[in-house]
Amino acid sequence: MNDFSADDATALDAIRDKQPQLWTNGNRGALGLPGDTWGGRAIGMDDIQQAVDRFTRFRPVLLSLFPELVVSGGVIESPLLLTPGLQAALKSPRSGQLYVKADHGLPVAGSIKARGGIHEVIEYAERLALEHGFITPDDAIGITTAAARKLFSEHQIAVGSTGNLGLSIGVIASALGFRATVHMSADAKEWKKQRLRTRNVTVVEHEGDYAMAVAAGRREALNDEKCHFVDDESSLSLFIGYSAAALALKAQLDAHGVVVDEQHPLFVYLACGVGGAPAGIAFGLAHVFGPNAHCFFAEPIASSCFLVSMLDKNGQYPSVYSFGLDNRTEADGLAVPRASEYAVDIMRPVVSGIFTVKDDDLFKHLYTAAQASLRIEPSAAAGFDGPNWLESSRQGQAYCARHHLSDYLEHACHVVWTTGGLYVPEEEYQAFVERGARLTMKVSA
Ligand SMILES: *Cc1c(COP(=O)(O)O)cnc(C)c1O
Repeated sequence: MNDFSADDATALDAIRDKQPQLWTNGNRGALGLPGDTWGGRAIGMDDIQQAVDRFTRFRPVLLSLFPELVVSGGVIESPLLLTPGLQAALKSPRSGQLYVKADHGLPVAGSIKARGGIHEVIEYAERLALEHGFITPDDAIGITTAAARKLFSEHQIAVGSTGNLGLSIGVIASALGFRATVHMSADAKEWKKQRLRTRNVTVVEHEGDYAMAVAAGRREALNDEKCHFVDDESSLSLFIGYSAAALALKAQLDAHGVVVDEQHPLFVYLACGVGGAPAGIAFGLAHVFGPNAHCFFAEPIASSCFLVSMLDKNGQYPSVYSFGLDNRTEADGLAVPRASEYAVDIMRPVVSGIFTVKDDDLFKHLYTAAQASLRIEPSAAAGFDGPNWLESSRQGQAYCARHHLSDYLEHACHVVWTTGGLYVPEEEYQAFVERGARLTMKVSA
């Protein structure tokens, strides 16, 4: 059981009052060690490396399926951008440097879901193709042969999603020749469904929320042994697919000449839905940088499911509905009422903190990002308040004092992870920008 502090009680009050806040994790250990099991299975650096190796093996496959990967030679990765203009516009961080990890432009899926989703589908395809002798453990290119595609066409891949995971899974699954079914929650945007239907993906629309869409997909898959269900709440393959990003970030920080050590802390701000993506990345970063990586998750106020789990005195995983929140947010990628239990367990001893965001602020940040030529969707704007919370709030300052960081903020590297946006249709995107512009003007007038 966790220690429960006065700050935790304050955080619960802010949740009930629907006020934005930063909560910091009093249970984070000095060594910055994450949990080491995923639903009872031991996991560590080997698993991260396996995901990295699988992406490497599949470069020729991905290259042959997606022309947009020609420029990167089959690598699905986003740039790390130094963003002084954005830093000036946000007026934070006040010291250190601000970078953006630009997953909003990740090819193929258009969001951070490219990492986990594509990893899980290629892992499944690789297993089937190996069993049937179409490929060898070192060479996956046989996966694109007619014979392999025929095999895949007899199999189905199913997933429940608020939109972006469905996009990622549906696009890669159909490209490999699988039948694909995406169960969409009521939050899912119409264009995401259309994009999938044009790729022959079956889209099942549900009246309910994300948790209900996942449950529907899980149920359907149970009755069909040739159906693989991608379980966003508990899939290890998704999780380690996300974790591979940590090694890419390390290489990019090196290329920028950014040192990470005790006197040069790394702060990373990650949008959080069910928690798999941010926890996967934080898990990877903890393995790469140890206690010098400080990961903060960002949630919409109405969907602060990871925070309510972190605050549960008995180590349970409550739903936001039991705190009087309604899980209604424009951040469709984050509209999740209950966090992944496995992701919560992995993060309890290591996540630095969680902050919550008003929907209006998502649009203001989306507008600010647009001024800096970053085309993001509302969910991807959740992390922008992170540096300010850290530097300016009582909780943030106390966190820095507790971890002996206060003297080193001048040398800090802040990374805001922008998680989606590439394929938002132009008209919809312009409406987001205008809404952000209106809100921004209103404040400064
Ligand atoms: C899914 C998603 C996230 C968060 O990932 P989870 O695994 O659900 O926590 C963040 N941003 C965007 C744009 C997403 O689609």
